[in-house]
Order: sequence, then C-alpha cells, then structure tokens
Amino acid sequence: MTSQRSGARAEVDHVALVTGSARGIGAAIAHRLARDGMAVGVVDLDREASARTANAIIEEGGRAIAIGADVSDEADATRAVDQVAAELGPVTVLINNAGIIRDNLLFKMSVDDWDAVMNVHLRGAFVMTRAAQAHMTQAKWGRIVNLSSTSALGNRGQVNYSAAKAGLQGFTKTLALELGKFGVTANAVAPGFIETEMTRATADRLGVDFDDWKVAASRDIPVGRVGTPEDIAAVASFLCSDEASYVSGQVIYVAGGPKN
Ligand code: NAP
Repeated sequence: MTSQRSGARAEVDHVALVTGSARGIGAAIAHRLARDGMAVGVVDLDREASARTANAIIEEGGRAIAIGADVSDEADATRAVDQVAAELGPVTVLINNAGIIRDNLLFKMSVDDWDAVMNVHLRGAFVMTRAAQAHMTQAKWGRIVNLSSTSALGNRGQVNYSAAKAGLQGFTKTLALELGKFGVTANAVAPGFIETEMTRATADRLGVDFDDWKVAASRDIPVGRVGTPEDIAAVASFLCSDEASYVSGQVIYVAGGPKN
C-alpha cells in the first residue's frame, strides 16, 4: 500500500468503508483515504459504478474493493460490512456519505419522497453504523464521519432532506457519547454548495444553467467560490486521522463561510 501524504498517513493501515463513493464527494473521500494509507471498500448502489472508483484507486497504487449495496437495506448493509472485513480487514473507518434529494415544497411533497430521503440518509447511516461498530469497538479504535449539510439549518424545498441532515447531527452526537470509551470518534461534516452531480441535478430541476448558478451562488459565499469534493475529503481525512482522537460529536460546516 502506498501513501503520498506522510502527515495524514494512518499509523496503522486502517480499513475504510465509504458509502455512495461511486462519484462526487464519496469518491473524493475514498481517494483521499486511500492516499492516507487506508484500504477502502467502495460501496454504491451500482457495483459497476463502484468498480470505477475502486479501479482508479488501485491504479494510483492503493487498495480497494467495489461493492454494490443499498445502504437503506439492512441485509445489504450487513453484507457490505462483512465483505469489506473479509477481503480487506476489520472496518475501523466508516463514512456515511450516500445520499439522495427529492426536493419539493411541503404542500407538494409526497410521502414516498419523504420516506426515500429518510431511508437513505437516516436508516442507511443507522444500519451501516450498527454493522460496522462491532469491528471498531473490538479494535478499540474507530472513526465515523457522517455527511450532514448546511440544509440542516433549513432550506426551502427540502423539508425532507433538511430534517434528515439535522437528524444525522443528533445521531452523530449520540454515537460520540456511546462509543467514545471504545476509542471511537463520530463527527459530522456539513457541506455547503459542492459541485457534484447532486447540485447539477438541482440546477436542471430548477431550469437554470449550472455554470450561471455557480457564479450566482459564489456571490453569497464569503470565500467567493463554490466547494469541491476535495474540500470535503480534506476535512474527512483529518477527522479519520490519529491526530483527531480528541475531536468527537462535532459538526463541522465546510461551506466557505459560517453558513451557505
Ligand atoms: P451524488 O453526486 O449524488 O452522489 C451520491 C452517491 O450516493 C451516488 O453515487 C448514488 O448512487 C449513491 N447512493 C444514493 N443512494 C444510495 C443508496 N441507497 N445506497 C448506496 N448508495 C447510494 O451526491 P454528492 O453531492 O456527492 O453528495 C454526497 C453526500 O454529501 C450526500 O449525503 C449529500 O446529501 C451530501 N451533501 C452534498 C452537498 C452538495 O452540495 N453536493 C451539500 C451538502 C451535503 P446513484 O447514482 O446510483 O443514485
């Protein structure tokens, strides 16, 4: 296993499982953790899509396997954790990143769209974490990072998504309370506007040009630009390092300002 970043390199070669890592923020985190020296289980709905990320990591000299699994499905979650543990080793780092949006104003939102968002973000993080925590508590070392969002603070048209992302913050703080004594930390990263397929799909739904939308959004972001998946991966990398062992139960907004 190779590592290009000696400062962030794990002292022990840990095994990370990153959900929703076929693309976007999850793929950037998977690549970053691999460069930090971790073996990575790339988990996404479509195994072929997961394989693209895993193969790219292997080509860079890292270790990775690809798994197709729906994180909101209890059996899939257990299978994914078991497979990563069997092929790479005990899962001591879990990134709950898989996510979907089903935006609509409250009066038009269907129960199906409410349930879909709750199931992927909240049920998914719950069943994945419950499956992985056994490896972490046994190892007396673990790192859990949950992807929240600035939408947790409220966002028009996202009553389902904002509730799920706020829920993940409470979930994170409770994990920190329960698992701290086992050397396991849990933190949430709450991104603002990050350039991915998710934000591109939102632009399409709103009928606005994505590049124009980014320029307009940048005017309201204190650092004057939208974020990249690598901006989020850098924070996740720190939270998963040995150096972050005293950081737990926190929500870190990564939004180019206090909120955007
Ligand atoms: P993305 O580009 O849409 O990628 C999400 C990935 O998750 C996709 O590959 C998707 O697979 C996968 N996924 C969806 N449902 C899944 C399930 N049930 N099981 C396994 N994988 C599943 O999204 P992103 O922008 O990278 O966002 C990553 C995370 O950051 C999400 O939790 C999102 O809510 C959060 N976030 C994003 C932003 C932003 O501005 N982009 C801001 C704040 C928070 P399919 O393609 O097959 O659906």
